[in-house]
Amino acid sequence: MELKITCIPGDGIGPEIVAEAKKVLDAVAKKYGHDMQYTDILMGGASIDVHGVPLTDEAVATAKSADAVLMGSIGGDTTTSPWYKLPPNLRPEAGLLGIRKALNLFANLRPAVLYEELAQACPLKQEISETGFDMLIMRELTGGLYFGERKTVEENGVRKAIDTLTYDENEIRRIAVKGFDIARKRRKKVTSVDKANVLDSSRLWRAVVEEVAKDYPDVTLEHMLVDNCAMQLVKDPAQFDVILTENMFGDILSDEASMVTGSIGMLASASLNDTKFGLYEPSHGSAPDIAGKDMANPIATILSASMMLRYSFDLDKEADVIDGAVKQVLRDGYRTGDIMSEGCEKVGCKRMGDLIVERVK
Ligand code: NAD
Repeated sequence: MELKITCIPGDGIGPEIVAEAKKVLDAVAKKYGHDMQYTDILMGGASIDVHGVPLTDEAVATAKSADAVLMGSIGGDTTTSPWYKLPPNLRPEAGLLGIRKALNLFANLRPAVLYEELAQACPLKQEISETGFDMLIMRELTGGLYFGERKTVEENGVRKAIDTLTYDENEIRRIAVKGFDIARKRRKKVTSVDKANVLDSSRLWRAVVEEVAKDYPDVTLEHMLVDNCAMQLVKDPAQFDVILTENMFGDILSDEASMVTGSIGMLASASLNDTKFGLYEPSHGSAPDIAGKDMANPIATILSASMMLRYSFDLDKEADVIDGAVKQVLRDGYRTGDIMSEGCEKVGCKRMGDLIVERVK
């Protein structure tokens, strides 16, 4: 299969972690006879330095012409980098917002996996963490409260702020379809999270999700109120497979779920549009404090590349091989500094990539 991939190495540790992900992809391609074609584009600070803007139209066009985009991370030290003296629309992060908009990425996927080998990093009680967990939060990314009309007015000398939360049924349906499709590739359970006891938008959300569920009789659907979900994530995270939710609830719950894994260098993510196209990136930032020192953990980016194979190319077997190689490396006792624990061997970014490649082969 021919896979056209646009890469955004970006800033900070970005180029180092993307290089390792490419190495792993190349090993999988060689093993299964695929042809990976990479084109790099500049974004964020790297683009500001060359073009004066964080994202050019040419870079967007290149990304659009690919089947998927693999990104490292963008941005620098926000207190010392000259990029942050620029107006907000010219700063590195504006490039990320720009490309998400240009590619119409409305579905954000964030897996939160606790590996048995890293259970000691989990802040939860041992009896909860020892079994591990593996969930995926599917968050609507372009609607809801963050994109509704807002204003601040003054009435009779009293300041008043108004935000509006709007969803139409088409916005709900397209994300629900994505959620059920992805549940089919996993343990076939969707937990739809809303606040249907209070909000009209949540009642519509629930009704539309029920309609979509009829097309997926093999997937179990349950509904959960967002306040209960926040509690269940720390009480019994292993119960979750796919959590499907709107923008603001997903923003909060996905950070909570990430925290309970305890390992920022391990968390992958993806943003999808209504085709198979997606942008895949680690959940962490560009870690300027360790950039260029061969200290970064490349696993979140390698797992993002695995998600790319699974969700944009339907190469589930190849993705399983990468996920399995990552687990095996952890089982074999290798750790980058951020996930180091007693009795393990500390390795750098490049060596971690090489160890995963060896296990892919
Ligand atoms: P960060 O995630 O870059 O770093 C937080 C801490 O985690 C640091 O100590 C860092 O060394 C460590 N860390 C992060 N990733 C790691 C990895 N793979 N391996 C080992 N350690 C890792 O967050 P921050 O310091 O708040 O932000 C730094 C820059 O990244 C900022 O410019 C910010 O805007 C940007 N950022 C970009 C993205 C993105 O590209 N999507 C996301 C978040 C932050």
